[in-house]
Amino acid sequence: MKSSISVIGSGFSSLASACYLAKAGYDVTVFEKNKTIGGRARQLKKEGFTFDIGPTWYWMPDVFERFFSDFDKKPSDYYTLHKLNPAYAVYFGQNDVITIEDTLEKICEVFEREEKGSTKKLRAFINSAKSNYDIAIKDLVYNPGLSVLELITPKTILKLNYFLSTIKKDVRKRFKNKRLAQILEFPVLFLGAKPSKTPSFYNFMNYADFGLGTFHPEGGMYQVILAMTELAKELGVTFKTEHPIDKILVQDAKAIGVESNGKSHYYDAVLSGADYHHTESLLDQNFRQYSEAYWEKKTFAPSSLLFYVGFNKKLQNIVHHTLFFDVDFDAHAACIYDTPKWPDHPLFYASFPSKTDASFAPKGKEAGIFLIPLAPGLEDTPQLREQYFNKIMERFEFLTSQSVRSDVLFKESFCVNDFVNDYNSYKGNAYGMANTLMQTAFLRPKLKSKKVKNLFFAGQLTVPGPGVPPSLISGKLAAELIAKELHLHLNEKDKTSV
Ligand SMILES: Cc1cc2nc3c(=O)[nH]c(=O)nc-3n(C[C@H](O)[C@H](O)[C@H](O)COP(=O)(O)OP(=O)(O)OC[C@H]3O[C@@H](n4cnc5c(N)ncnc54)[C@H](O)[C@@H]3O)c2cc1C
Repeated sequence: MKSSISVIGSGFSSLASACYLAKAGYDVTVFEKNKTIGGRARQLKKEGFTFDIGPTWYWMPDVFERFFSDFDKKPSDYYTLHKLNPAYAVYFGQNDVITIEDTLEKICEVFEREEKGSTKKLRAFINSAKSNYDIAIKDLVYNPGLSVLELITPKTILKLNYFLSTIKKDVRKRFKNKRLAQILEFPVLFLGAKPSKTPSFYNFMNYADFGLGTFHPEGGMYQVILAMTELAKELGVTFKTEHPIDKILVQDAKAIGVESNGKSHYYDAVLSGADYHHTESLLDQNFRQYSEAYWEKKTFAPSSLLFYVGFNKKLQNIVHHTLFFDVDFDAHAACIYDTPKWPDHPLFYASFPSKTDASFAPKGKEAGIFLIPLAPGLEDTPQLREQYFNKIMERFEFLTSQSVRSDVLFKESFCVNDFVNDYNSYKGNAYGMANTLMQTAFLRPKLKSKKVKNLFFAGQLTVPGPGVPPSLISGKLAAELIAKELHLHLNEKDKTSV
């Protein structure tokens, strides 16, 4: 008889694990609390408009290719990918925009215009970022984070200085122009911490940005969820939506199943892709590995206030991904990481997928997503949401020189309380636990429980960290540990591909 595994949650990490486990011969059942699959990457449809609720940036296409190739598939078997040009635009003031295009050549021209002589520096910086990318993404991040030794290789020893410096120091040393420095510091925001707290080794995100580029799957990021769900079903995975897990069943310090909607379901192992802190709350106190004090001390990635807006006209002076960096970055970052509070002058990000993909909005209209990063755990009220909507709309109108508020057909919002209610997210974090030096690799919460046998974890709070590509990798790593633990091995192809 096949060994059976229950998977908690249906985000990217759970879906990845489910696929690998099913391929390795297990009988896999996914339990998702919500009505739909996808976790933070669900989609909202309203009045002919479509919005990706969570991730909107498709970066590191190689990681997606590697995932699908492990199943002898390609992303193009499931969805169509376009490289965006421009990749994104950054506002620093009214009609004051820097546009990042789709090749390093063109980006160098922009840098040169801003800071004479910066082309040479940028090329050198991106070369170092590429070298770090090759080490990190082809090798390091596919380690399970069991020991410090995973990080010590002949290649990484030569990179020690990159772990001792920070992105901010490294960038500011090379680029005097503040706007260029801010653009180069932007990619590490995906990792959840301030550039001044992120080791400069993570400049591999700059290679992902300028070297590889920004992509858009036709129909949005949700297409990737649909693709993985289809693949999982092809591999025989069973999905149970509206099945919140209320308890992980443990006998003799061994996970034996899960309890959902008042019923017990028995399995040989349990894997959770739900937020780590929440998963541990499904266990009796004595089986939890990490105390409340442990989580309290950790640097979490921000939560967010999001708006999904249907506009009754096409908007001007914006591109698919547009960032608004016209206010003081450090002041906003302090409100997230140092003294948690709502920022007076928030930076924000906006996405207008209907600029490049007609499926997102009815003809002549625009779909807009607005995101303000916030400290996790902040008070979240309808009044605050409204106040901040007005705040950013006013700035948006000024900066892009157009009126839009009278053209809002509808808006939906999503904030701290929704992250908690919808995903059981710790303090309403949006994208997990940050990748600081002390929260990297073997220093992150472990993929395998130290206290409960046959209980495993995946997702953005464990290794390698936040973001869609790391979540895919996390799912693979957790599946491999299960295979090892239950003495069944993924096939040779999988082993050689890691
Ligand atoms: C607003 C936002 C924007 C982002 N932008 C980007 C981006 O542009 N690019 C990028 O790469 N990354 C981005 N990210 C990060 C990325 O979306 C996440 O890292 C990734 O989706 C996390 O996947 P996961 O599997 O770890 O967790 P989740 O997607 O949270 O999945 C966990 C699942 O567990 C379920 N669950 C929780 N508790 C239970 C329970 N008791 N029983 C059953 N099910 C349960 C939840 O409902 C959820 O479906 C963004 C995230 C957010 C929120």
